[in-house]
Amino acid sequence: MTEALRNTRQRRAVAAVLDELDGFASAQHIHELLDKRGEHVGLSTVYRNLQALVEAGNVDALRGDDGETRYRQCSSGHHHHLVCRACGRTVEVEGPTVEQWADRVADEHRFTDVSHTLEIFGTCSNC
Ligand SMILES: [Zn+2]
Ligand SMILES: [Zn+2]
Ligand SMILES: [Zn+2]
Repeated sequence: MTEALRNTRQRRAVAAVLDELDGFASAQHIHELLDKRGEHVGLSTVYRNLQALVEAGNVDALRGDDGETRYRQCSSGHHHHLVCRACGRTVEVEGPTVEQWADRVADEHRFTDVSHTLEIFGTCSNC
């Protein structure tokens, strides 16, 4: 197998695991799930592929309170996350009021090219 082919295959395997997950998962966890499927991909390769997927805009990355980054395949539009601290279950939410507020505040201070991130953490009904 050529290097390029192997990279494509690994990228697909990582994307397939993310596709089945409901919530955010760490690279370590994704690595374990790949292993169970018989896809033996090194942890550093998993990180590299996740990073590439994040840069391509297919995957959202979120840094938890513990400093660990977790990944989730999301819809492509701008959204926020409601994340369960216990199990990682995630709901994509929109915040029209937040969007207006952010625009207004930036405008007041004459900031351009503005972006923001806002995540809500809590305990879900299953936990
Ligand atoms: Zn998302
Ligand atoms: Zn939960
Ligand atoms: Zn927003």
